[in-house]
Amino acid sequence: MIKLSKRLQTIADLVPPGSRIADIGSDHALLPTYLAERGIIAFGIAGEVNEGPFHAADKQIHEAGVRHVVEARLGNGLQVVSEGEVGVVTIAGMGGSLIASILEAGRSKLFSVNRLILQPNVGEDQVREWLIANHWSLTEEHILEEDGKIYEILCAVPEKAAVVSNDRLYEPRMIGGVRLSRRRLVKMGPYLVERPVDVWFKKWELELDKMEMICRQLGKSNLPASREKEHELREEMNEIREVLRCLQKDKPLFK
Ligand code: SAM
Repeated sequence: MIKLSKRLQTIADLVPPGSRIADIGSDHALLPTYLAERGIIAFGIAGEVNEGPFHAADKQIHEAGVRHVVEARLGNGLQVVSEGEVGVVTIAGMGGSLIASILEAGRSKLFSVNRLILQPNVGEDQVREWLIANHWSLTEEHILEEDGKIYEILCAVPEKAAVVSNDRLYEPRMIGGVRLSRRRLVKMGPYLVERPVDVWFKKWELELDKMEMICRQLGKSNLPASREKEHELREEMNEIREVLRCLQKDKPLFK
């Protein structure tokens, strides 16, 4: 039986029993195979755009003896899914802009889908912006660290089925004595900021380090565009520092 990494296990735990899922960019099909082995899903597609991972997925499914439940399919994004075929789509381990472009290109396949579970490696804000623009609403966000990397996992449902609308989720508000703009909530996570955990603080400290390095590079240039970019970045860094300072102070004692 497959044992999943902490990251994939967190995604697996968000799949409702009895689901029909498409795991896009499945690589070795670990997620759908795990879900099928445990009888959690009724049907699964392991979608892959590249031949190598597609064959690896097919082999995994065969060796685990779950071919009656999971199919490996070769194709770009949601092209491997027929309309109405699945209710849950998972896309993990890619950049946020690629995830957003896969969702955008496959919008017609999402009518029957009632849950998206997305794990961008970077660019989480681009995924949140796509969800807002396409009337999907987050129901939960997770953040975890594994093997020195920090991952966010976002779970969304169609906005009409959501308890909390996007207007409310991203409404600028005071949290822990600091005002968070819509943009800041999109960047930092509307649920993650409400209950910030240590790894979330660590992620943003690391982001600040990266931004500081970019600022230093920009500082070496005399171009007005570089000055302007550096100024913008410094302003954003000050805003992030203020959020971290206030939320750190306000952090719950339990996690
Ligand atoms: N989802 C697995 C995970 O999270 O462990 C594998 C992630 S792996 C880093 C990304 C996979 O996505 C690769 O196997 C790549 O071939 C596949 N991929 C990238 N773009 C894709 C697309 N447009 N459609 C389907 N698969 C894609």
